[in-house]
Amino acid sequence: MSMNNQGRPTGIGTSSFASSTGSALLPNEPLLFEIGDTEHSGVDLPDVTISGSRLGGFERRMPLDLAGLTEPEAMRHYVRLSRLNHSIDSGMYPLGSCTMKHNPRLNEKMARLPGFADIHPLQPASTVQGALELMEQLSHWLMTLTNTAAVALTPKAGAHGELLGMMAIKAAQEAAGQGHRRIVLVPESAHGTNPATAAFLGYTVKAIPARSDGTVDVQAVRDALSPEVAAIMLTNPNTCGLFEPDVIEIAEAVHEAGAFFYCDGANFNAIMGVVRPGDLGIDAMHINLHKTFSTPHGGGGPGAGPVVLSQALAPFAPVPFVRKGAKGLELVEHAQGEALGRITAFQGQMGMYVRALTYMLSHGGDGLAQAAQDAVLNANYIKARLAHAFSVPFGDCPTMHEALFDDSFLAGTGVTTLDFAKALIDEGFHPMTMYFPLVVHGAMLIEPTESESKQTLDHFCAVMEELAADAKAGNAERFTSAPLKAPRRRLDETRAARSPILKWERPEETLKAAE
Ligand SMILES: *Cc1c(COP(=O)(O)O)cnc(C)c1O
Repeated sequence: MSMNNQGRPTGIGTSSFASSTGSALLPNEPLLFEIGDTEHSGVDLPDVTISGSRLGGFERRMPLDLAGLTEPEAMRHYVRLSRLNHSIDSGMYPLGSCTMKHNPRLNEKMARLPGFADIHPLQPASTVQGALELMEQLSHWLMTLTNTAAVALTPKAGAHGELLGMMAIKAAQEAAGQGHRRIVLVPESAHGTNPATAAFLGYTVKAIPARSDGTVDVQAVRDALSPEVAAIMLTNPNTCGLFEPDVIEIAEAVHEAGAFFYCDGANFNAIMGVVRPGDLGIDAMHINLHKTFSTPHGGGGPGAGPVVLSQALAPFAPVPFVRKGAKGLELVEHAQGEALGRITAFQGQMGMYVRALTYMLSHGGDGLAQAAQDAVLNANYIKARLAHAFSVPFGDCPTMHEALFDDSFLAGTGVTTLDFAKALIDEGFHPMTMYFPLVVHGAMLIEPTESESKQTLDHFCAVMEELAADAKAGNAERFTSAPLKAPRRRLDETRAARSPILKWERPEETLKAAE
């Protein structure tokens, strides 16, 4: 079937799939290739005859094999797919450590301004002064909020930022004749990306045990430090939702031993505008714009993980960065001296920069501090409301931006943390983070963020209380068979991860291959 240029079908389709099924939610949305057919195009285009001689022998010899669909058919396919997902726009998403906060629509509006959205990375600097100014302002805000000397905007995720920060540390140590330092200290509660980053750069990872209160013991760090240690990678607030009380002593001990302090700043949402990590002695820290500064994330979308650097590491910042030149702002693209080269193509995730700066400017400094305090308040509210029904591992001190429970309240019920999380899906919530951090048995890590109202929190807590009571009342079946109301039931997650089917084959080819 083809479409005319008003989007109406012309001609008769051969599509084997009825676009209306009588069911609002279609659990088995077929692939585009199964809905459409390759004989037709979605648009009416006049036949083109291109002389083969001008293609130098590269003319296509096989059919293009693209599924032809009308505009409404294609649109409905994607809208139906989108409705199979839980999203921050469809319900609460209390996924701990991920800071799934609301993405204000104002940010989207700004990012779509043609002056930001339609420019090309190869345009002459004189034609993109506004975009460069935006990058400069964002850098200024990030350095001010963290009290640091430099920032590299370009890393595309937190993990990418970790890699860059640790590369800068490595470069600084090699420049100082300290390249023999091969050990990186990582507390047990760390996010998996921390040891993975260190190992990726060839370091040996040495774990620092957690204290019984969930924080890092400065004495354990001192005992682990030696002339072989390159750095510590410490998360603050940590992944148990606790502010590390000895962070300054730890920084001093690390520096005395000639090592660097890499801070995992993924939890900056809890302290932005309240604590400046530079004052705590950090040397490098990534900031997840897609967490703290509300740019969209999840689903593999573009993230951005700028890294702030201390005075000692600033000379090793990568290119490009914005500088004031004789003719206005310019993007410095070639590394000089000890600087690292590039870590991404062009200037990084421009759309995320626009969204993050919009978030900052619309809040103001005081508004960001308020958002952090509200995030902390919301987490403490959940922790306090659920403490009677759940088990709280580090209950003595208030939490920061996330509430952590363990699975001891489920002992003897036949319900695991996984089952409990799956049951939450049936109640319309995205599950909390499970089994992380590893220092807590059967961990449930809940992060409400500042963008949830008290009403939503109350509803969430009521559902959590009801589920806990039901589990304790012996109704394990509701949990072990969950989710019952989602488009998909329990998946074999190991198989899905280990042997994913990534290539669609035509049924007849599959048959042929089987013969
Ligand atoms: C999210 C997160 C990371 C990694 O960030 P990505 O942007 O997902 O790569 C690292 N550490 C902690 C504590 C995190 O929560």
